[in-house]
Amino acid sequence: MKAFRRFTVRVPLPAPLSDLAVLAHNLRWVWHAPTQDLFALVDPERWKATGDPLRLLAEVSPDRLAELSADTEFLVRLTALRADLDEYCTAPQWYGDHAASGNPMPEGIAYFSMEFGISEVLPIYSGGLGILAGDHLKAASDLGLPLIGVGLFYRCGYFRQSLSHDGWQIERYPVNDPGALPLTLLVDAADKPVIIKISMPGGRTLHAQVWVATVGRIPLLLLDSDIAANDDELRGITDRLYGGDQDHRIKQEILLGIGGVRALREYVRIENRAQPTVFHMNEGHAGFLGVERIRELVEASGLDFDSAESVVRASTIFTTHTPVPAGIDRFPDDLVRFYLDPGPDGASNLLPGLSSTTVLELGDEADPGVFNMAHMGFRLGQRSNGVSQLHGAVSREMFADLWPGFDADEVPIGAVTNGVHGPTWVARRWQDLSAGNEDAAPAVYEAMPASDLWAVRSELRAGLVDEVRRRAYTSGRDRDFTDAELGWTADLFDPDSLTIGFARRAATYKRLTLMLRDPDRMRRILTDPERPVQLVVAGKAHPADDGGKALIQQIVKFTEDPELRDRIVFLPDYDISMARHIYAGCDVWLNNPVRPMEACGTSGMKSALNGGLNLSILDGWWDEMADGENGWAIPSAEEVLDENRRDDLEAEALYSLLEETVVPLFYSREDGVPTRWVEMVRHTLAILGPKVLASRMVRDYTLELYVPAGISYHEACADDYAEARSLATYRSALASSWKSVAIAGIDEETTPDDELDLTAHVSLGELAPDEVTVQAVLGRVTDDGDLYDTVHAPMEPLDGTDLSGRTRYRAAVLPYRSGVLGYTARVLPKHPLLTDDAELGLVRYPASAGEPPAMPA
Ligand SMILES: *Cc1c(COP(=O)(O)O)cnc(C)c1O
Repeated sequence: MKAFRRFTVRVPLPAPLSDLAVLAHNLRWVWHAPTQDLFALVDPERWKATGDPLRLLAEVSPDRLAELSADTEFLVRLTALRADLDEYCTAPQWYGDHAASGNPMPEGIAYFSMEFGISEVLPIYSGGLGILAGDHLKAASDLGLPLIGVGLFYRCGYFRQSLSHDGWQIERYPVNDPGALPLTLLVDAADKPVIIKISMPGGRTLHAQVWVATVGRIPLLLLDSDIAANDDELRGITDRLYGGDQDHRIKQEILLGIGGVRALREYVRIENRAQPTVFHMNEGHAGFLGVERIRELVEASGLDFDSAESVVRASTIFTTHTPVPAGIDRFPDDLVRFYLDPGPDGASNLLPGLSSTTVLELGDEADPGVFNMAHMGFRLGQRSNGVSQLHGAVSREMFADLWPGFDADEVPIGAVTNGVHGPTWVARRWQDLSAGNEDAAPAVYEAMPASDLWAVRSELRAGLVDEVRRRAYTSGRDRDFTDAELGWTADLFDPDSLTIGFARRAATYKRLTLMLRDPDRMRRILTDPERPVQLVVAGKAHPADDGGKALIQQIVKFTEDPELRDRIVFLPDYDISMARHIYAGCDVWLNNPVRPMEACGTSGMKSALNGGLNLSILDGWWDEMADGENGWAIPSAEEVLDENRRDDLEAEALYSLLEETVVPLFYSREDGVPTRWVEMVRHTLAILGPKVLASRMVRDYTLELYVPAGISYHEACADDYAEARSLATYRSALASSWKSVAIAGIDEETTPDDELDLTAHVSLGELAPDEVTVQAVLGRVTDDGDLYDTVHAPMEPLDGTDLSGRTRYRAAVLPYRSGVLGYTARVLPKHPLLTDDAELGLVRYPASAGEPPAMPA
């Protein structure tokens, strides 16, 4: 008989132990070793089996609890850890110190994401994007940011993976019982659950309750539609992550964006916190938050749409996470229109006071009838970024159409390279060496004798081998192999052999099976009797992706060859709990995406933090951080257009690197220690380590994006939104006048100091001379007359006009180098709230310099 539903009964803890519940409910324990140690003391066996404080406390025997209540030593530790948590959550930290020394730090930051991967005990994530968001919250907590996370609570999260006897992926969806998770329901002063309401088509209303997870000092609000106030369809909105069709997806995004802002307002009111002044959209899924904020401003402050949009833009950051077109959410306009549900007056029911046509325009793209969430993100986020330097450049090309007339290198999309949370991902063995102090770690690594470094690496590898054996056995049993058939798993892998890891989603561009391009060659590498190699592989395919599942099956079949099965293993159900072991234990982290499809990639960073050496295509983060001493670059054959041939070439390069460089280096020993290898490990830990930390990433976001956005927000709002209104008025003036703006010609003279004295003759239509910026542009010229390596100089308006009534702008520029140079001039919009030349996608060059097509504002 199957249970219809599971639920959890929590027996109150004895009073002297009540702080245990506090420690269990704050997810800081996930990255705080002393708290983990305390839980281990409660019941070592159960702690080992569950790794989950709430389950531990629910299952531990009352006798043991009574014993602990009388154990003075335990109680002293408990009290100290509780005090440490309070201190951690209230100390000013880095952010508070910055504010105290007079920096204009934002009062609050809201961070919206479709998924958050904080710990395996809260399974509301699928992979890289979610774990990045989780690491962002943890680092924000460590640094003391006043940040609030907003996401969805999924009844089933992402699927758990197992394999059929035949090696085909099977998906299971365990049900999350919020009562058993570290969550509390958001309630009002009268202790009643807060219910968020959103209008749905046909006069229906979507209701959602709000769970709060506490991540150190950061609250994470999770909306949940599975409540009795909703009909079955609406209840199902938060059933699972990345599960349903487009209709399901857009409802989730409406709940996240619109419902998320409403939940945030309730939370801020109840907790009496400062309103966030900066909103961060982690990927396009959260884009509707911008429209909801526009609606709020229109309703509460009486702003028109355009002025409200100016306020929202000024304070929104949009981060794009993928150059893979299929990874970008695009909805048919009709579907969006259906939810915007315009009444007879054209105003939206979902977003009262806003015109649905105007909202639809925010998601316009080249394909007619398609609403593009990334485009909405860029339009609503004045500041935007990709997630590695290379991805920033790729995004500037990819989205250049949004800023017509500008070269890709002027497109206003920046880059903040991702990072990973050290205290979460660095093995305990390493952390203990520097007493958990991230900043002290590099010096410790520099000072360690090579043999000690090697001993730690070997210990971590041995730990992974144990884990591999355990998981391979369990997986075999799940696949209906008998104990007799699984005897070999007991001594699968060797604790002293070179161990390579490859774990990632089975997305096509990640090329799970590139290593099997020449199976015989791979076989020879793995089974070399003198210098054996072992390979651990893991990863999930999207449930709807049969192609990805076929790749997994191909790997699984390969691993079943009796000659190979000791050397290569596929472990099902890649998630945070498994990932920790493989990052810690692997000597080499392999990554072979199709460049430049990997926006950043973070698994290689986690390996590096544990002394793993990366062996990777120069894509994502590795493109900027590979330095020749921290791993190896697999040459990519991007210029080869035939995919098959490209795969052949890149696989060949991978095999050669392994055979000629990586394997020999690992096995070249002095007194048993591979000294050259260990020096690369040391270099990786000490020099690369600090660059891949989430603390570095969150500092970058704060100083480069949050602080400027907070300032822009206050500028936009000051004096009853004077600047925002003025920008809106200016943009509408541009909409009618820009078509008349033109540069008729440029006069040139050489001054006695060899300066170039330029005068541009500019028609301004209805605009005044100080309402535009005119720049002289000087640079090198190609044979086709294209300027590159340019410098810009502002040109000043002269009094009066030329004989044709045009305004003259003048500048003297000093040619900055010898050789063939060229110049031109250009007209750009000008307003104090604009932060980038290209921001509005408007520019005029003289006709002869190749007039770009005009684009309406
Ligand atoms: C880090 C991590 C990822 C993301 O890794 P990529 O290199 O971005 O593919 C995915 N899943 C888990 C469990 C992780 O820990």
